[in-house]
Amino acid sequence: MVIVLLGPPGAGKGTQGERLAARLGIPKVATGDVLRDAVRRGTPLGLEAKALMDRGDLVPDSVIMGIMKETLAAPSAAKGVILDGVVRTTPQAEGLSKLLGDLGRQVDAVLLFDIVEDELVRRLSGRTTCNVCQKSFFGREPGEQCTDNGKTGVLVRRQDDEPDAVRKRLQVYRQQTAPVMDWYDRNGGRLAHIDALGTLDEVEGRAIRALETLKGGAA
Ligand SMILES: [Zn+2]
Repeated sequence: MVIVLLGPPGAGKGTQGERLAARLGIPKVATGDVLRDAVRRGTPLGLEAKALMDRGDLVPDSVIMGIMKETLAAPSAAKGVILDGVVRTTPQAEGLSKLLGDLGRQVDAVLLFDIVEDELVRRLSGRTTCNVCQKSFFGREPGEQCTDNGKTGVLVRRQDDEPDAVRKRLQVYRQQTAPVMDWYDRNGGRLAHIDALGTLDEVEGRAIRALETLKGGAA
């Protein structure tokens, strides 16, 4: 089962993706991880991506999708895969659909985790980040210490977690995502909205029920 996760920053999509991966026994794949892995292994596309990043250039979708194709064709992804952050724009949705088609597969479910904007702003603007190890914390104040990774760091509020900056990030996200949702509606549907307000268990339960409904609909 190929599952695509969508959702604004702060909705908890990454955490839910990990839970679903553990429950379903399939890997969670994020663009950044796949890219770093290809660079580390020194694959041809990994080397191409590294050269671009070393020059400070963005890695284009075509290279990302090439690397993603290797990942999706690997035995580890045979049973299924959860794609987190792989699809953010319509060209990426199209690209993914095409490469899955080449592999004789398709997107089986798109889960969109969402919450009202005020809650997202509240969550993200309550986040502090360690200035040494970059770990994020909720419910801890700027100025507190972090010793989680061997070295002592200080928690700071990142500029892009300030409320105004958060609202701008959400605006950009919504501008990109609305067409992606339309695209999936026009191309087979299989998109479920998941209310991401609640405990981790509640949200996971909703995601599992949505997957069962989508699977039932496809059968
Ligand atoms: Zn730290």
